[in-house]
Amino acid sequence: MKIGAVRGMRDILPEETPLWRHLEAEIRAAFRLYGYREIRTPLLETAELFSRGVGEATDVVHKEMYVFPDKKGLLLALRPEATASVVRAYLEHGLYAKGGLAKLYYFGPMFRYEKPQKGRSRQFHQYGVEALGSLDPALDAEVIDLASYLVERLGLPREGLFLRINSIGCRRDRDRYREALRDFFEPRQAELCSDCRRRLSENPMRILDCKHPTCQPAIQAAPRSTDSLCGECGAHFQEVLAQLERLGLPYELDHTLVRGLDYYTRTVFELASKDLGAQDALLGGGRYDELAEMLGGPPTPGVGFAGGMERLVLVLRERLELELGRELDVYLIPIGEAPEVKRTAAWILAQLRRAGLAADMEYLGRSLRKATQVAARLARYALYLGPDELARGEVKLKDLGTGAESAQAIGAFERPEMLKRMLARG
Ligand SMILES: [Zn+2]
Ligand SMILES: [Zn+2]
Repeated sequence: MKIGAVRGMRDILPEETPLWRHLEAEIRAAFRLYGYREIRTPLLETAELFSRGVGEATDVVHKEMYVFPDKKGLLLALRPEATASVVRAYLEHGLYAKGGLAKLYYFGPMFRYEKPQKGRSRQFHQYGVEALGSLDPALDAEVIDLASYLVERLGLPREGLFLRINSIGCRRDRDRYREALRDFFEPRQAELCSDCRRRLSENPMRILDCKHPTCQPAIQAAPRSTDSLCGECGAHFQEVLAQLERLGLPYELDHTLVRGLDYYTRTVFELASKDLGAQDALLGGGRYDELAEMLGGPPTPGVGFAGGMERLVLVLRERLELELGRELDVYLIPIGEAPEVKRTAAWILAQLRRAGLAADMEYLGRSLRKATQVAARLARYALYLGPDELARGEVKLKDLGTGAESAQAIGAFERPEMLKRMLARG
C-alpha cells in the first residue's frame, strides 16, 4: 500500500514556498523594526505547560492537543500554541533577571487535532510576538500598531481590515464578570444552544464566542466585560484606546471578544479581514499578566499576538503570485545532442552560479518551443547554445519579459562583472 501524509498534515510544495519565504521575510523585517528578537522553542513540551498555562478546560487543551507519554511515561504535548512556551523559556533562562523588557518573536508549526478543512490543518504555522515585563498601556498599543503595520506591509489594503478590541480585566474582574454572565444567562437557558448550556456551568464567558445563530440575541444583550472592570483595569483600557486614537488606528469595541484561552487578562484584540468570510481573524492577541505566575514564575506582565501563516497565504496568494513565480535568473537551453555543446553549457551554468546568479538548464531534451515555455515560467532570461552558436563563440540571450534578444560572447562568462552587466541590461 502507498504511504500518504498523516491526515491533517500538509506538504508545502515548491510552488508555494516562495510565497511563504516572502511572507516570513516581511514579517521578520516588521518585527525587527519594532525591536523584537527571535526565539526558537521546541515543538515538544510537557503537557502540563499547556494545561496550566492555556487552561485544562479550554478546547485547545481538552479536545485538540496531541498528548502522549514518552518512554518513561512523562506526558508530552506537541505545542498547540507558542505563548506558553515563550513564557516558559523566559522564566527558565531567567530573562527577567537581566532586567528591562524582553521583546521576542517566533515562527513555526503548531499542532491541534481539529477537523481538517480548507485553510485549517492539524499542523499549522504561526508567527507572533511577546513583550514581557511591562504593564504600560503604550505597549498594548504598540503591539496593535505592529500588527496593523505588518498586514499593511504585506500588501493588504487598509479598507478591508478592521480591529476588534475589548478588555476582560484582571482575575478578580473576570470572576465578577462570570457571575454577572451566569446571572444573566441562567434564566435564558432556553434561548441557548446545547453547547452554550454546558458552557454556562463551565465558563460562561465562552458563550460569547458562540457563532450559533440561536444564541446571538442573548449574547448581544449580555452584560459587558468592560462594566466589570476595577478602577485600574478601566484606566488601563481607556489609555490603550487613547493611544490607538493618537496613532490613527480605528477600532471597534466588541464586548463579545473574550478569546478562548485562560491566560488572557485586560486587553484582547483581533485584526480581521473582510476578505475572509465568517472566520475572519488574521491575527489575535492580548495581555496575559498572570501567565508567568500560573507557570510558577515571578509576577511578569506580558502582551503579544499570534497569527496564522495559512490565513495570510490564503488572502495574499493571488495578490502576490505573479511577482514571486520566477526564482531563476537564467534558464539555459542547449540545442541538439553534441557533447561539446552540452559540456560548454554545463561550464556556463557553473560560471553563472559562481557569479551569484540562480541558473538551471534544460535536461529533458524538450523541443525549443517547449523548453522556452518552461524557461518563461521559471526564469527571467533564457540562454540558447547550439553547434552554430558554439562555432561563433557566442550564446543567444533572451529577455523573457520583453522578448529582446542579443548575442553574447561565451568568453564573457569568465568575468562575473560582465555577466551581471549583461543581465542588468537584458
Ligand atoms: Zn482589574
Ligand atoms: Zn451557543
